Amino acid sequence: MELNNLLSALSLVAVYAYLHIGVFALLKNRNSIINKVFFALCIAYAIWSFAYSFAYLADTPRDFSLWNKVAAFGWCSFSAFTLYLVLLLTENRFSSRYIIFFLFLPSAIFLLMALFLFGPEMDTPPLISGIFYIGDFIYNFVYTALCIYLLARWGNRSDSLRVKKQARILVLSGLIPFSLNLLTQTILPFFGFKGLPLMGQIYAVFMVLGTYLVITKYKLMRITGNIILDEVENKIIELVILLNDKGEFIQVSKHVLKLLGFEESELLGKQISILFREEDRDRVTLETLRQENEYEDVQICTRSGETIPVHIMSVPINDQALNEFLGVLLIVRDIRKEYELRAINAELHERTIRDSLTNLYNHQHSLELLTAEINKHRQNPEAGMLSIMMLDIDHFKKINDTHGHLYGDYIIRTVSDIMRKNVGCRGYVGRFGGEEFIIILPDTELSDACTIGEEIRREVYRYSYTEQMPVTVSIGVSQLQDETAMQLLKKADDLLYIAKQGGRNRVKCE
Ligand code: GH3
Ligand code: MG
Ligand code: MG
Repeated sequence: MELNNLLSALSLVAVYAYLHIGVFALLKNRNSIINKVFFALCIAYAIWSFAYSFAYLADTPRDFSLWNKVAAFGWCSFSAFTLYLVLLLTENRFSSRYIIFFLFLPSAIFLLMALFLFGPEMDTPPLISGIFYIGDFIYNFVYTALCIYLLARWGNRSDSLRVKKQARILVLSGLIPFSLNLLTQTILPFFGFKGLPLMGQIYAVFMVLGTYLVITKYKLMRITGNIILDEVENKIIELVILLNDKGEFIQVSKHVLKLLGFEESELLGKQISILFREEDRDRVTLETLRQENEYEDVQICTRSGETIPVHIMSVPINDQALNEFLGVLLIVRDIRKEYELRAINAELHERTIRDSLTNLYNHQHSLELLTAEINKHRQNPEAGMLSIMMLDIDHFKKINDTHGHLYGDYIIRTVSDIMRKNVGCRGYVGRFGGEEFIIILPDTELSDACTIGEEIRREVYRYSYTEQMPVTVSIGVSQLQDETAMQLLKKADDLLYIAKQGGRNRVKCE
C-alpha cells in the first residue's frame, strides 16, 4: 500500500509537470501546429497520470477498472501524438493532415477496446485480451521506434548544429522512458521479475523534460519559417522573403508572389540569385546577405522576364546560443513609383535648364555651367585649358524680314544642330540670346577651339537651307587665363564684335 501511495503522489507530480510544460510551450506560440500538438501530447500524459494516481489507490477492481478506462484516453493516444509531433518537427512529407487519420487509427481501436471490452464484470475472451495486449505493445513499440529513427535521421542529415543538438536531446530523452518500459514490462518479467508496477506515465516525464529543454534552450518551435513569416506578413505590408543558410527560399510572402508572378512551389528550394540579372548577382550574394545590408536599385526579374526596380534590406538571423547563421530575412520594397517620380523630376529639371526652341542649354544654365567649369579648372590647373566661343548669326534681322519669323526659327534650329554635332561630347552648347550662342569647351586648347569654330562656320555657310538666302555666322574664341566668367565672356564677345567688323562669316581667335 505504501508503494502505491508513493506512485500515486509521483503521478500527481507528473500531472503538474505535463500541464506546466504543455501550457508553457503553447503560450510560446499559439499559432504553431507543432506547439499545439505538443500541448495535446502533454494533456494525454496528464490524463494518464491523473487517472493512475487514483488507480494505484483503488480498493476494488471496479474502481481500478474505472480509472484505468479514464487513463486509456492518455495511454492509447500518446504514441500517436508523439509520432505526429516528430513528423512535424522533422518536416517529414507524411506530416500532412490526411495522415492523421491513419496515425490515430490504432489509438482509436485500442481505446474503444479498453473502454468496452474490458471490465471486472466482463468475461473478455483470452483471444481478445491477447490481441489487445500484443497489439498495443506492437503499436507503442513501432511508433516509438519510428520516432527515434526519424529524429536520429533528421539530426544526421542536417548541417545545422542547432538541429543536431535538438535531435540528440530528443532521441536521448525519448530512449529513457522507452527503455525503462521495455525493461520493467518485458525484459525483467521474462527473467522472472514479475509484478513490477506500470509506470509509463511517470517515465515519460524524461521525454517531456527533454523536449522542454530543447524548446527553451535551443529554440525548437521558434525558428519555423511559416510562423515568423505569417506574423511578419500580417503585421507589415511589405514584401518579405525568408532564405535558409544556403540562400534558398524557405518562405515567400504572398505579396512577393503576386508582384513577381511566381507560384510558391516555383521558388521554394531555389537560390535567391534566380531573381537577379547578371549584373546584380555579384552585389547580392550569400556573403553580403550574412550581414545587415541595404541594396539600392536592384533590378529583380519577374516570371515573365520583366524587371522591377526594388530596394532590399537584409536582416541575417543568427542563433546567439550556438553562434550559428540560420538564414536571412529580406524586406523588399517596390520602388517603381519612386522611379517614375525621379523620371518626372529629371524631366522637369531638364525643362528648366533647356531652351524650348533649340533644346540647347538656356542662358541661365549656360552661365552656371561656365562658372562650374571655371571653378573646376581653378581646382585642377594641371588639367587642359578651358576655351569658350561666342557665336552670332549674321544679318539675322534681314532673314526674318525676308522670309518671316518661322523661317528665322528654322535657321536658329539648323545652326543649333550644326553646333551640337560639331561639339559633340567635347563641351556644352547654350543659346545665350535670340540668335546668339555660347560654346564651352573644357580641356580644349585655344587652337583646337578655333578649329571647331572654323568647322562650324564652314558648315553653316555650306548647308543647303530651304531658301537660297545665304546664312553665315561670326565667332569669337577665347581661352581662360585668370579672369572671372563675366570677364571671359566679355573677351569672347569683343572678339565676336571684331569678327563682325571684319566682314562677318569669320572666326576671330584670341
Ligand atoms: P548682325 O549681323 O550684326 O548680328 O545683325 P543682326 O541682324 O543679326 O542683328 P541683331 O542682333 O540686331 O538682330 C537679331 C534679331 O534676331 C532681332 C530679333 O528680332 C531676332 N530674333 C531674336 N530671337 C528670335 C527668335 O527666337 N526667332 C526669330 N525668328 N527671330 C529672333
Ligand atoms: Mg546677329
Ligand atoms: Mg545678335
